[in-house]
Order: sequence, then C-alpha cells, then structure tokens
Amino acid sequence: MNSMKDATDKGPDVVLIGAGIMSATLGMMLKELQPDLTLEIYERLDVAAAESSDAWNNAGTGHSAFCELNYTPEKADGTIDVSKAVKIAESFEISKQFWAYLIQHNIIELPTSFIKSIPHMSFVWGNDNVNFLRKRYEAMTKCHLFQGMEYSENQEKLKEWVPLIMEGRDNSEPVAATKMDLGTDVNFGALTRSMFNYLQQQEGVTIHFSHEVRKLRQVENGRWRIRVKDLHSGEKRNVFARYIFIGAGGGALSLLEKSDIPEGQGYGGFPVSGQWLKCTNRAVIERHKAKVYGLAAVGSPPMSVPHLDTRFINGQQELLFGPYAGFSTKFLKKGSFLDLPKSIKPANLRPMISAGIHNLALTKYLIDQVRQSPEERLGALKDYFPEAKAEDWELEVAGQRVQIIKKDPDKGGVLEFGTEVVSGANCTLAALLGASPGASTSVSIMIGLLERCFMHRINTDEWKAKLKEMIPSYGQSLADNPELLDEIRAYTGRVLDLTPAVKEK
Ligand SMILES: Cc1cc2nc3c(=O)[nH]c(=O)nc-3n(C[C@H](O)[C@H](O)[C@H](O)COP(=O)(O)OP(=O)(O)OC[C@H]3O[C@@H](n4cnc5c(N)ncnc54)[C@H](O)[C@@H]3O)c2cc1C
Repeated sequence: MNSMKDATDKGPDVVLIGAGIMSATLGMMLKELQPDLTLEIYERLDVAAAESSDAWNNAGTGHSAFCELNYTPEKADGTIDVSKAVKIAESFEISKQFWAYLIQHNIIELPTSFIKSIPHMSFVWGNDNVNFLRKRYEAMTKCHLFQGMEYSENQEKLKEWVPLIMEGRDNSEPVAATKMDLGTDVNFGALTRSMFNYLQQQEGVTIHFSHEVRKLRQVENGRWRIRVKDLHSGEKRNVFARYIFIGAGGGALSLLEKSDIPEGQGYGGFPVSGQWLKCTNRAVIERHKAKVYGLAAVGSPPMSVPHLDTRFINGQQELLFGPYAGFSTKFLKKGSFLDLPKSIKPANLRPMISAGIHNLALTKYLIDQVRQSPEERLGALKDYFPEAKAEDWELEVAGQRVQIIKKDPDKGGVLEFGTEVVSGANCTLAALLGASPGASTSVSIMIGLLERCFMHRINTDEWKAKLKEMIPSYGQSLADNPELLDEIRAYTGRVLDLTPAVKEK
C-alpha cells in the first residue's frame, strides 16, 4: 500500500492527452503562468497536430464571424440576431492577443508562418438571400467589432472582389456580397507545432509521441492513474498526475467515459466527416484572394457551409472548396470504425437514440453527401465558380468532427454543434468535447477552463498580472469598448503583421 502511495505521489502536476491546438494552448498558458509546473503530454500519433489541427484537415478560417452566415440567424420577427457573432469575434481578438504574445516572446519566430490577412466575404444569390445579407450587414455594422465591413449588390464591384465567382454567372440574377478586409487565414497546424517545439525545450515538460492513453482512474489520494501504451514497443505503464486535460479531439468522448466522473455521464458523439476539392491549377489559385462563405443547403449541418477559400500553407497560396460533409463511424481521421459503436453505453443510449430520431434529416443529408458523384461535386463548386473545370481539382479527405449529443429533459437527447468543457472530480479532470468554432477560439476556451479549474490560482496577483500581459484586454469587454478594440487591433495587427489587402479602386 505504501509503495502504491509513493508511486502515485510521483509524476507530473498535469497530463495533457492529445497534441492538438487545445492541449498546446493550455500547456503554453499553464507554463507561462506557473513556470515550475511539471507537464507531460501523451499523443497517439508520431507528430503533433496531425488530426483536426493540421492545416489540410480544417479550413484555416480565423473565425471572427465576418463571413459565416450561420452565426447570424434571422429571428422569427425578421431581425438578425448578432449575439453569437459578437461572442465569436471577441474570442478571436483574444486568440490574436495571445498569439501576439507568443511572437513578442520569440516562442514563434514569424507570424507569417501561421497567420495571414485575407478578406472574409459572404456571397449569396436570389432575392430572399440578398435581402437577408443586406439586413445582416446593417445589423452587424452597428457593432464596432464589424465596422469596416463593405456591402455590394453591384456586379461590377463584385467582379473586382471575386472574379472567379462572377465570371460566367447569369447576370440577370440578383447577387450580393459583404467583404471584411480584417479577415485571416490561420495555419493551426504550424501554430500548434511551434507551441509544442517551444514547450518541449522547457524544464519539467515531456512530450511522448506514439503513446496512447487507454484508461483513467482517480486513486485514493485524488491523483489520477493514467494507463498509457507505447505504440512502438507495446509496453504499457501507469502515469500519475494531479490534473488531466483530455484534449484528444474526437478521442475525448471515449476517455471521458472511461474516467467515470458523474459529470461525463450521458454524453454521446455524432461523427461528421468531410472532404474538400483542392485546386491544382496555379493560375486559378492565384486569381482568387478571399475566403468566401455561402449559405448552407437546407437540412445540412451548420459546419458544412460551402466556401471557396484561399489558404496559405507552407508558404504557398492554395485554394479549397467545400467541405462536402459525410458520415463515418470513426471519431478520429486515423481512428477506428468501431469508435461510434464502442461509445454507446447504457448512460447515453437514450440521448443518442432521441438525438438520432430528431435528426433524421441530417443523417439523410450526410448519407446523400457520401453518395455524391464527382459530377455532383463539380456542380456544387460551379454554384460558386461557374467556369470551374474538373481537371483542375482533386478530392482530399478533411478532418473528422464529433458533434456533442447530450441529455435533454424534454427531448431525451439533443445534438449540439458547439464545444463544451466537461469537468469533474473537483475539477482535477477536464475534457473538451465538440468541434466548432474550434481552433480560432482555443484561447478563450482555455481561459474558461483555467477560470473554472484553477480558480484558486487565477485570482492571485501573479496569475492576474501574467494573464494581462498575455491578453491585454483580459477581463474587459471589447464589444462594449470601441477605443480598447481599436487599440488591441492596432497592436495585434502590428505584431502579427496583419496588413489588410489594399482596397481596390
Ligand atoms: C473539416 C474541418 C474544418 C474546420 N475548419 C475550421 C476553421 O476553419 N477554423 C477553426 O477555427 N476551426 C476549424 N475546425 C475545427 C478545428 O480544427 C478543431 O476545433 C481543432 O483543431 C481541435 O483541436 P484539438 O486539439 O481539440 O483536437 P485535434 O487537433 O484533433 O487533436 C487531438 C489529438 O489527440 C490525439 N489523441 C486522440 N485520442 C488519444 C489517446 N487516447 N491518447 C493519446 N492521444 C490521443 C489525436 O491523435 C490528436 O492528435 C475545423 C475542423 C474540421 C474537421
């Protein structure tokens, strides 16, 4: 018994499971806030950021709610609800401040290695959609966060903004677009790997690649016993830690279930896979300079909003269209087809069945998407790029998202499209479930986790001062404070080298 106690008392203060952007962000923040903290990271793959956080597995949109029409729903009375957009825009400003801190402290050498300015646009056609976009523009530009947004129904103007989208289009059809030059493209994979490269060099931090976490159990002294398998040698061992963060992306649900915390009971997961069309013709790629989001098809999940998207990956400009949603029972791109069946437990059976019954249209939509022929995919692309040619595009598999299913007192179970931090055992364990808006809001999500699970530390003068240094607007509302927002945008714009494209004459 004594030797058991000795073993459990050893080990790091914190274990992070998964080497994606969420663990990287939390690890960086914790180590900056408390340099003597010991940290171990376990990742089942042999590199960091190879699942959802990798550049080709996500769309790289710095989600600021400038262009994503699903963040601004139309209410029953015809007005536009901008509250979600305001929250997301503020969160992205917080992320940019933290990334600027990383640059200023030479943790990441060059901002251009992971973030670049690119206009964010919304584009619609048809009278109803044009009316919606105009109303949305009017509602959004009342808020300081969205000032600078431009709106146009003028075809000549739109040809200047997005020639590929306008050429070959029936010009009798009403079209409209908004444009926000403050938009960004972010290579979340490069950012994540930079953070881990830095962390790895810090005293008290160890990263174990090709190590899969298999089991978790809280032992008598409150510490956690983590059963880890070395996927190269096959050896299994126990690691003990005071705090665990399950940042395992699609793998988080099964680990949360294994932890047996009551707060984790009843959660289920609904996997949505994705594919892109990736442009291979350099001449075409160079002619499009925007992230252009449209409206989601009726019945489709919010994250399958089509977009024609400029990307900057490994120093090169790229062009993606998609995502085409799909269905797979895997919870990770490099996961197992048994992930979904194995996640079904007595505690989540009812929520899973209820959510399934209430979302039959979504399931049908996803199955239809999987069955799409190459011609149908090209047809969807031509809605945005009428003169697209099949030979210029190739199909790529995107990352896997696991949407949250949770208990609901009325419906039995509901499907949600956001993210949620679930914590338990006196906040010694926290898991991040869900996928959207994701990496762009990773910093706010992790601040929320720190405020919840490290409450006793966050109120100390040291932590408060350090948080203010990392995020100068910490504790203040950017939506309510236009001067502060201007100041913060000027600072992050300068440090992150975000120079919005020069306006076309
Ligand atoms: C198609 C698509 C488009 C997206 N577009 C955007 C976008 O434009 N903008 C945006 O902000 N966000 C976007 N996202 C969301 C964003 O990519 C994710 O929110 C974010 O990358 C999640 O980071 P993470 O660290 O939680 O997970 P991940 O990056 O998936 O990392 C989890 C890690 O945990 C590891 N792991 C899993 N199980 C175990 C285990 N048992 N033991 C050890 N390691 C384990 C995995 O191998 C993986 O490396 C998109 C996602 C997808 C799929």
